[in-house]
Amino acid sequence: MIPVAKALEMVLGLAPALPSECVPLARACGRFMARPATARRDQPPFAASAMDGYAVTGPVSPGQSFRVVGEAGAGHGWAGHLGRGEALRIFTGAPLPAGATWVVIQEDVVRTGAQIILRDHLETGANIRVAGQDFRTGDTLSPRLLRPGDIALLAAMNVPRVAVSRRPEVAIIATGDELVMPGESPRDDQIIASNSFALAAMVTAAGGIARMLPIARDTESALRTAFELAAGADLIVTSGGASVGDHDLVGKVAANMGLERAFYKIAMRPGKPLMAGRLRGSVLLGLPGNPVSSIVCAHIFMMPLLRAMQGLATPSPQPLRAVLSEAVGANGPRAHYMRARLTPRDRLTPGQGLPQITPFDRQDSSLLGVLAQADALLIRPVGDGPLPAGTEVDFLPI
Ligand code: AMP
Ligand code: MG
Repeated sequence: MIPVAKALEMVLGLAPALPSECVPLARACGRFMARPATARRDQPPFAASAMDGYAVTGPVSPGQSFRVVGEAGAGHGWAGHLGRGEALRIFTGAPLPAGATWVVIQEDVVRTGAQIILRDHLETGANIRVAGQDFRTGDTLSPRLLRPGDIALLAAMNVPRVAVSRRPEVAIIATGDELVMPGESPRDDQIIASNSFALAAMVTAAGGIARMLPIARDTESALRTAFELAAGADLIVTSGGASVGDHDLVGKVAANMGLERAFYKIAMRPGKPLMAGRLRGSVLLGLPGNPVSSIVCAHIFMMPLLRAMQGLATPSPQPLRAVLSEAVGANGPRAHYMRARLTPRDRLTPGQGLPQITPFDRQDSSLLGVLAQADALLIRPVGDGPLPAGTEVDFLPI
């Protein structure tokens, strides 16, 4: 049994760097940028009005009067030069005319024909967006997981296509004679295959493409066929068949097909039988069959692996801190990722900012109903002593 941190390091060490591809901005959200992007213009490209009002030469004082000599709107600049005593009717986003240093908001003005008089109480501030105040030509956006705001920034930089890492292709193989697909009519001794659906959803969330293969029965030939169908995938994820029972054949068949195994069995609950290695050009991650084990192990190992493949520098989630709402017993020789519920605390109470965390009483790794109620994994390190209520602990949000 190897420690979780060591196993994670070895899993990340298996990650191939995927090549990049160029995609239009409309398809780039959620993808991992492969290279920095460079602004092709200043933003704003000209000094612009931030409000609807009148452009004048400042500073201004109450009671001043100006003659309105023209108008500028967004996309419709005014070509003249503003002199002393002159004002330009101006709207938000319009270029500030030459000679102007101030925009008086329209609420601060009384207009009569072509004349404006400034009111007694003037807003302070020039209401001008300085040219290049957002970014300048040549400024760069560094590689990152692209969020909607990043996409807008790239668009404003006049970058219509962006280099992103190719999506990792992930073949997902459920194993077991007892499994049938949701919607089928199971025999009395069968259950519905659920793991692949969670795994596919997680793959998609991590930017990958999930390829769900047919359920492999517990025979060597069925597993061999499944691995052959998975050929070409960046990652093959199996669930079940990985422990030491008579029907647990994943390790054996993969070994016969040339698996270079990195490890088998980790000091973790749930999920001791976890296997990782390289198989015929793909990374193989053999997850446990118990539904909660497979999903928790996918959080801890598969998601960081997919992020690493796409070039993310810090692919593993950093644990957050919470305060135990109740005492917990001692932990054994395996790190325990307990399904738990968070309760936010009143942020205004000094020293009470951390959320409270409460592990569920039932931690059996077959209980999807408990997992569905959980929003955190409370991390109990190997050999962690009994802890009283109020202890600060680590958790991962799920
Ligand atoms: P195994 O590792 O194959 O012995 O499986 C451990 C437990 O997980 C058994 O109770 C299996 O029935 C169950 N199991 C295995 N694969 C799946 C799956 N894809 N969906 C739901 N349960 C599964
Ligand atoms: Mg099985």
